[in-house]
Amino acid sequence: MIVVMKKGATEESVQRMAQRVEEMGLKAHVIYGTERTVIAAVGEKRNGERETLESYDDVEKVVPILAPYKVASRETKPDPTIIRVRDLVMGGGTIGVIAGPCSVESEDQIMQSARQVKAAGATGLRGGAFKPRTSPYSFQGLKEEGLKLLAAAREETGLAVVTEVMTPHLVELVAQYADVLQIGARNMQNYHLLQAVGETRKPVLLKRGPSATMEEFLLAAEYVLDQGNQEVILCERGVRTFETHTRFTLPLASVPYLRERTHLPIVIDPSHGTGIASLVAPMCAASVAVGADGLIVEVHPDPRHALSDGAQSLTPDAFAETMEQCRKVATALGYKL
Ligand code: PEP
Ligand code: MN
Repeated sequence: MIVVMKKGATEESVQRMAQRVEEMGLKAHVIYGTERTVIAAVGEKRNGERETLESYDDVEKVVPILAPYKVASRETKPDPTIIRVRDLVMGGGTIGVIAGPCSVESEDQIMQSARQVKAAGATGLRGGAFKPRTSPYSFQGLKEEGLKLLAAAREETGLAVVTEVMTPHLVELVAQYADVLQIGARNMQNYHLLQAVGETRKPVLLKRGPSATMEEFLLAAEYVLDQGNQEVILCERGVRTFETHTRFTLPLASVPYLRERTHLPIVIDPSHGTGIASLVAPMCAASVAVGADGLIVEVHPDPRHALSDGAQSLTPDAFAETMEQCRKVATALGYKL
């Protein structure tokens, strides 16, 4: 249910209502909108709560939330959620670009990458320190050493660091270094991990599982939101289909579809979505055209020698050119990039 407070309701009365909601055995999520404050009351439904809540003076009305993803739903919060971390801004008409290598490989590699993507206009730096690899024999990442190198790159460039966390027990460590915690596609339905990042107050970039439906994707986001972390970025990174010409199939319709249903920012990853470097630039421009709030792009100073995902990584020059194209599309449509 959504408890819609009357215009001008004081903070004290909002908190009092939130407490009433909790006393009924429901969880209260207070959401401050531009127009008014609402309390999303979620949990198992019993009888009579709606009438009881509606009887309070400062409550305008109580309406049911129809979507199964209660806090992520636009019904609960019509205003777009805008993520701001350092200079990285995503949502509400501003497009944020996160770029960098698939994996952190060395000090030289990550420092060069950071300088180059920053020069081209990125405001976020990606780079995996803990890598989920299909084969146990592939490079698994530099782990904590990689996190330290990312922090050093941030120190010099000011870029916001986006990096993956794979297990609940590593959340505390990764959160010490990261500005945004990435949940990989393989972990989209790792519910304990989702709850663990939900307990932090760092923005979470949640990747869609390659075979997850939109509803499963939004319910995964709900696990994070349910822990009180309101900052979730949804990332479409392609799904598995019968097609083999690209690594995955990248459905850009996800952007307008999700936009109708959720207030959360939506980001596209055309690198994993296609797996082919030459397809990345056009898909970046197309993502901006369909209204994406951000992009996450793999860029490597020397893609041929990358330890992971070299075939889909852009050279720094190709990335700079891609940014130029995206800026033109953004300007034409009135978005800020
Ligand atoms: C990555 O970002 O390098 C990655 C492993 O992505 P995904 O989880 O989408 O496969
Ligand atoms: Mn990768």
